[in-house]
Amino acid sequence: LSVVKCSGCSTVEDIKTQGEIGVKNPMAHPHSIDQELLEQLVYDALVWSSLHGLVVGDRSVQRSGTVPGVGMVHAPFALLPLSFPESRYRQACELAPIFNELVDRVSLDGNFLQDSLSRLSSPVALFAPIGVRDITCPALTKKVDPFTSRLLEIHSKMLEIDKKEEIRLGLHRSDYMLDEQTNMLLQIELNTISSSFPGLSSLVSELHRSLLDQYREHLKLDSEKIPRNTAVSCFAEALAKAWTQYDNPRSVVLIVVQSEERNMYDQHWLCTLLKERYPFCHACKLIYIRIQQYRKSVSLERHFFNVFRCFPQLINTHNVTVVRKTLTEIDAQGELLPDGTLIVGGKEVAVVYFRAGYAPTDYPSELEWGARLLIEQSSAIKCPSISYHLAGTKKIQQELAKPNVLERFLENEEDIAKVRRCFAGLWSLDDVEVVKDVISRPELYVMKPQREGGGNNIYGDDVRKTLQRLQSEGTEEDAAFILMQRIFPTITPTILMRDGIFYKEDAVSELGIYGAYLRNKEKVLANDQCGYLMRTKVSSSNEGGVAAGFAVLDSIYLD
Ligand code: ADP
Ligand code: MG
Ligand code: MG
Repeated sequence: LSVVKCSGCSTVEDIKTQGEIGVKNPMAHPHSIDQELLEQLVYDALVWSSLHGLVVGDRSVQRSGTVPGVGMVHAPFALLPLSFPESRYRQACELAPIFNELVDRVSLDGNFLQDSLSRLSSPVALFAPIGVRDITCPALTKKVDPFTSRLLEIHSKMLEIDKKEEIRLGLHRSDYMLDEQTNMLLQIELNTISSSFPGLSSLVSELHRSLLDQYREHLKLDSEKIPRNTAVSCFAEALAKAWTQYDNPRSVVLIVVQSEERNMYDQHWLCTLLKERYPFCHACKLIYIRIQQYRKSVSLERHFFNVFRCFPQLINTHNVTVVRKTLTEIDAQGELLPDGTLIVGGKEVAVVYFRAGYAPTDYPSELEWGARLLIEQSSAIKCPSISYHLAGTKKIQQELAKPNVLERFLENEEDIAKVRRCFAGLWSLDDVEVVKDVISRPELYVMKPQREGGGNNIYGDDVRKTLQRLQSEGTEEDAAFILMQRIFPTITPTILMRDGIFYKEDAVSELGIYGAYLRNKEKVLANDQCGYLMRTKVSSSNEGGVAAGFAVLDSIYLD
């Protein structure tokens, strides 16, 4: 058990405020919570997680990534929510529909995507002597970024055949950190593929609400200050709406998954909402129908949850058939009919929802690339399409931050100002002045390749070393990276739970806001902010992935 000093609790005043079993503001000073109360909270939180499916596969159990129900462990989570300024939360929520629209507009500009990303497909000579750039012999060259080049190739093919995606579905998550010095909400990145944790983040908010209610007397916190997290039900609803637009009741939603996935329960929550129909007991079903009639009157809804304890996440279920397949399986079982219909395992696919396909390891051979191309060529609705996927790359984020680029895609000046306000400093590596500064003060920057899933960025002195290596090699490889201003969020004391053990740590947090977008030709059918993901990580760690083991799931307490 690791115990660090809680910097917030060291004054005499703080110590005086400690009551019999706790401190005055347990969220601000969680390290000072009375041991007995802490142990009760921990125990109840662990029970809650186990009973409500706030779980992931346990790394130490071999089949936990393939067989549901085998080797489950509670997802890593923070014991209490994190205090977050309401104004900044609202600001992040307001941005969601604007980013949804922005991704859609960018996705339609094939030339912008190709031009911005073209240097990633430049050939680089293998073992090239310094200064030699133009070796074109394929045996001696590779692409600057072979993975993004393959995505671009698929995109070019779609441009060549003038492929139109009339029904477009985006399930995004825009991530932010609050910069301590400026108090600004700054965007870390925008995820357009495989935005994870809609299921588990919704549950963490419920867990925290439940703990705050149960320990109201001791903690003196109001559970209503934790915003209800609708991420999973909104995503399910958007997927179901897209399926309805496809308009074939026998068609299915295909979820593209990795062959081993310890985060499968997050995905299963979403699948369950899509699949099931009224999963309530009889009494709840009757009340549910009443609520539908009264269009979800808030008081009735609360009464409903309090009395019957049915899961709020389950309020919208859709009766849609869901199929899970890996890209390898799709290659083996998939076929494209002459009219563009995608058939996989004998079933017509209406919507393809990618929870894999964002990393090079998802394409171990040509077969998986074949599957991705097959999907893209089909008339199934892709979430994301190749253009939506590319619009979410870090290179495009950096291009959008250049002067006058947002104006190409958005008309509303207020929207443009709102988006620009959340942009941190972003540069390409051909910015000589910035590169000079990075080399002298690398700790103020983050260097990012075009990768997803956490654990890929470069920090601190490694930034300087990498830049110097790239400069001395003189290849095109610098195009694979972008530079970003490093954001320094406020460090707060927190209690992190992992493998049934609590850790008192100092931590920083990253707020993700989910967005769902659906349109059919000119008609926008959904453009919503839908729920949030708070991730908290030990302040000494550079990266923040929960699945990658650096962070825990959290929720927010508005103040
Ligand atoms: P990925 O697509 O792999 O999630 P991110 O851009 O989100 O890539 O970076 C991963 C993590 O690195 C983030 O969750 C965050 O913790 C940290 N990080 C990224 N950019 C910055 C930044 N500019 N300042 C501080 N931390 C950052
Ligand atoms: Mg990402
Ligand atoms: Mg990220």
